[in-house]
Amino acid sequence: MQVYSGTIYKEDLKPIVGYLTIKNGVIKEIGEGRPPKKPIQTGTILPSFINAHTHLGDSAVDVDPEKYSLQELVGPGGIKERRLDELSEKQLISGIRRSLHKGFKEGVTHNIDFREGGVKGINAMKKAALDTPANPIIYGRPIQPNESELKRVINAGDGVGLSSVCDYKPESQKLFKKHLYGVNTGLHAGESIENQKKSMDLYGESEVVRSLKYNPTHLVHLTNPLPGDIEALARQKTPAVVCPRSNRITRSGKPPVRKLHDMDVDVALGTDNAMLCSPSILDEAIYTYKNHDLTPEMVLEMACINGGKIFGVDNRIVVGNRANIMVVEEVNMGIKTLLDGCASIATVVSGLDVIKNV
Ligand SMILES: [Zn+2]
Repeated sequence: MQVYSGTIYKEDLKPIVGYLTIKNGVIKEIGEGRPPKKPIQTGTILPSFINAHTHLGDSAVDVDPEKYSLQELVGPGGIKERRLDELSEKQLISGIRRSLHKGFKEGVTHNIDFREGGVKGINAMKKAALDTPANPIIYGRPIQPNESELKRVINAGDGVGLSSVCDYKPESQKLFKKHLYGVNTGLHAGESIENQKKSMDLYGESEVVRSLKYNPTHLVHLTNPLPGDIEALARQKTPAVVCPRSNRITRSGKPPVRKLHDMDVDVALGTDNAMLCSPSILDEAIYTYKNHDLTPEMVLEMACINGGKIFGVDNRIVVGNRANIMVVEEVNMGIKTLLDGCASIATVVSGLDVIKNV
């Protein structure tokens, strides 16, 4: 049995001064006051970070985002896609592994990754994750949008992650709708105003509204919502993942985080493309806190808890839950300075092994 003590941000992120015990990766006891035996570590104890949107495959890609529009940078046939094709499998895997390790060292125990490159891409992620303690939840993407390729990707990964419904022809969209029923599906939506307009012109509905028809586990970005988009998201109780640092770099706008929160949409944080941003949710949380009208508690919930809801993991510090925690070496740290205090994370514990098809 392992014992940790200090200020514990347990259920609902309300702090207590006390201890927690862990046995076989599960939280057994949380108590106030003195621990039952000598703790192995003392500090401020928080749920681990969940990185709810990554493209770790492009960790080894080097581009200057200033030179390209969003579409040229990450759209179909864009510079990222071409550079990814040029990477050897070894470069690809070692880049992903580097990012998984870096994220874990900074408290990230889980990464929801949109993995390009079909089954080969999914397998590269699995190989990269083999000797890391971090857990990838792999949303694969078919190289060609045909039935057999789509079925292979569904079977190989934990879900399917699509770029934008606007990137696919109507017959492909029909195929996706048929085969993705009941499959964990994530989509980029509302990232660019161009795609939103294109969707309205061609289909009379926004990209966000059309994406919701896939019954997705989550939508990513929402930087350019049209009137009614956020309300539709709230009605369907679909979580949103926002990536404010990436949006700033690609000049695609500022996600309406506070509005999403006020409309009771679960909002989680992601770091998006590893070629643009470090895979650190700590960096993302600090940036988000400084640039949005949010309390530290709201940011912590986005960074530690809400991402888990997407793949069915309760990441709160509660008896009976898997112990995914980080210990921050900091004394007397108030909630107001919590995010800066996280910069001194000492230990990360991941009680979770592998998540498959949740
Ligand atoms: Zn993305």
